[in-house]
Amino acid sequence: MATVHRVPGHVDGNALAGPLSEVFDFDVTTASARCDACGATAMLAEAMVYEKPHSFIVRCGSCDAVLMVVLQRADATELDLSGIAWLHVPR
Ligand SMILES: [Zn+2]
Repeated sequence: MATVHRVPGHVDGNALAGPLSEVFDFDVTTASARCDACGATAMLAEAMVYEKPHSFIVRCGSCDAVLMVVLQRADATELDLSGIAWLHVPR
């Protein structure tokens, strides 16, 4: 299991369930992702999520690199997934 840093100001990846349910047709918290920066693989529910007004910054629990950015605009949800090497979604 990846080391999870306890940095003040973040919640875990379960916070992504609501905003990403509009985009993905699966429970994103059950998916695992590989960090493109350090190669660690972890459940998204274990990621560090920093909530900002209208956005979520999702950071790797092992190296603190940004895995994903979720922007919630009035007319769309925008995702930057460039920090994820791959996403594993169990059936
Ligand atoms: Zn990492």
